[in-house]
Parts: sequence; C-alpha cells; structure tokens
Amino acid sequence: MDIFKRMTKMGHEQIAYFCDPHSGLRGIVAIHNTILGPALGGCRMWNYATEEEALVDVLRLSKGMTYKAAIAGLNLGGGKAVIIGDSKKEKSEDLFRSFGRFVEGLGGRYITAEDVGTSMKDMEHVRMETNYVTGITKTLGGSGDPSPVTAYGVYVGMKAAIKQKLGRDSLDGLKVSVQGLGHVGTYLSEFLYKDGAELFVTDIHEDAIENVVKKYGGKKVGLDEIYDLDVDVYAPCALGATVNDDTISRLKCSVIAGAANNVLKDPDVHGLEVMKKGMLYAPDYAINAGGLINVSNELGGYNRERAFSQAEGIYDTLMEIFKRSEKDGIATNKASDLQAEDRIKQIGELKSFYLPYKKSFKIRG
Ligand code: NAD
Repeated sequence: MDIFKRMTKMGHEQIAYFCDPHSGLRGIVAIHNTILGPALGGCRMWNYATEEEALVDVLRLSKGMTYKAAIAGLNLGGGKAVIIGDSKKEKSEDLFRSFGRFVEGLGGRYITAEDVGTSMKDMEHVRMETNYVTGITKTLGGSGDPSPVTAYGVYVGMKAAIKQKLGRDSLDGLKVSVQGLGHVGTYLSEFLYKDGAELFVTDIHEDAIENVVKKYGGKKVGLDEIYDLDVDVYAPCALGATVNDDTISRLKCSVIAGAANNVLKDPDVHGLEVMKKGMLYAPDYAINAGGLINVSNELGGYNRERAFSQAEGIYDTLMEIFKRSEKDGIATNKASDLQAEDRIKQIGELKSFYLPYKKSFKIRG
C-alpha cells in the first residue's frame, strides 16, 4: 500500500524521514494527530530488519499515543519516533544530537522522550539541540523515573475496577497476582500491600521476586502458574499479549488491570471474550497513562504532586469507560477507544468554532 493510502487509513498527519550519514542516524517520526496539542511520544531505537518494519512500528505506536493522551485528558496529540540501529552498539552523542536537530526542525509539532532502546542520558544529548524533549533527569529539572506515577495510576485504576466489578472500595483482603516485578510492578506491589491486598508474584529474575516477597509479603508463583491462580485481580506488568486464546480459558480473576502495553493479543477478539467470561478488563493505555501524565507535566514546569494528583483522575476515566461498556454492551477496550475519539472530535469542533472569531477580531484590532 502506498504511503498516502496508509496515512489516510490510519489517520496520520505527517511522516518525516531523517537521514544523517555523518552520525549514522536513520529514523522516522510519525505524527498521528495534533488536534489536542503537539504530538508527544517516545523515541524507540531498534534494530529493525527492514525500513518497512520500522515504518509499520512507528505508525502503530504513534496512533496509540493519540488515544493515550486523549483518554488521559491531556492537551497533547500522538506521535512517535524510531531510530533504526542497535541500541547496544550504535549509540553516540552525535547520533542523538543529530536526532535532536531534526526534532527541532519540526518546530514543536513533535515532542520526544525516552522509550525502548533509549535512555534519559540519550535525551540529555537530544536536549542540547532542542527543547522539544521530555523525560529528562531530575538534576536537569526533569521528571525523572515515571514508574512511581505509572504504578500509582494502575493502583487507582485497579480500585475503580474492583468498585465496578465487586462493589469494593479497597483492596483489603483481595488476592492480586502481579506478573513482572520491574520498575512499575515493584511500586505497584507496595501500593497494594499498603492497602491490605494479598500478593502472588512472579518474574524471570529471582532477586526481583525475593525483594517483593521480603518487603511486601508476596507469595512467589511460577511464570506460567500465574494464569491458573484463583485470584480477584490479575495485574500484567511485564509483557504484552498475555491475554490470549490460551490464557483466557485459564484465568479465574474478576479483574484484569496492569501496566503492560498491548495486553490483549487481538483487541477485537479478546476484549469481547474477556467480557463474555465475566472478567472486567481495564484498558491498558487508559490505566497505564501515569507515565505519560508524568512526562507531560515537565512541559509546564515539573511538579510531582500535580503529576500524582492528575494520575488520580485515572479512577474517574476508567469508571466512565466501564459505564459506557455496560450501557452499550461493548468491550471495555472498544469503549475506551470511543471515549478517546469523542474527546478529540469535541475539542476539534470547539477549536474550529472559535478560530474565525479570533482571526476576525485580530484583523479588526
Ligand atoms: P521493567 O523492564 O522495569 O519490568 C518488567 C519486568 O518484567 C522485569 O522485571 C522482567 O524481568 C519481568 N519479566 C519479563 N518477562 C517476564 C515474564 N515472562 N514473566 C514475568 N515477568 C517477566 O518495565 P517497567 O518499566 O516496569 O514496565 C512494565 C510494563 O509496563 C511494560 O510493558 C511497559 O511497557 C509498561 N509501561 C511502563 C511504564 C513506565 O512508566 N515504566 C508506563 C507505561 C507502560
């Protein structure tokens, strides 16, 4: 399919290719939608086998960012960048400064951040060439590690889900399985422990498990055993696609609510299957938006308290999604997409309504 057809089909506004033979930079920025504001999204560095693979990834990821920003109530659009290369071997100061110069050239339509394969240090190099970058270290006035805010958002989102499904206000006495005890999973375990939840935890790294078992009294379970547990909540915080044809029949939980992206292997199919089985799924990009909320706060001068308080809004957002899903008899992931699209449409209409008045006012003045 040609590029313009693809852009029309997925709703993209712009694709920018970057090439700098001097630094070795080869990359693509995709700006999906800027109705709500400038397109914000991380810069992924990955050893894509082909340019086509890189394009497919950046188109998919940038569209996802539009929905995440919209559902989080942010005045931001969706964008993403990919740099083609091996992040273990091909990183350099000039590569990221070169990338920063290209980002600067987009004039603020796209704001970058760290992502898979890039780090805060890389973003410091980007920042030497452009201010259109977030996710900078605390020492440089940035927001630092977003994981605590992400984990808090997942925790309040989980509370919304148990309120909706079980009529409960707290996790006290509920059984929660946490899959993946990395940055987010560990902070989440702490929130859950403090709320009185009984934890069942797993990870591929023994030391990560030991840490959570020791600090928060979690019970260690096997990597595959986690799908068969008799728990109230399953919290995927490691990989995507863990809710699939194999696992749906095994899961016995009432609620699926975690930090991982792309939890449903096939959203159109598995969102409905989860619903039919009587499980409530908290859509991934709505419940894990705390990280985006955190970095977006940097744009107006970072304030940690404000970031946490904005992440608290994830409770109400999820409640609205659950109500819409219930009312219309649609899967929660579908309800979430519609909520996000509605906001973009409404704000878009508002902007197009006021613009002529502003213009004519300026001309007369
Ligand atoms: P992380 O890399 O720090 O942690 C992931 C953990 O999962 C690691 O400890 C890893 O050992 C473990 N793991 C890997 N494979 C596993 C398996 N098969 N079974 C069990 N555990 C396994 O990542 P993170 O920052 O904690 O993010 C977790 C998830 O949340 C990711 O999917 C990420 O994309 C998503 N997310 C993170 C943020 C954030 O702020 N960090 C924001 C939004 C979404």
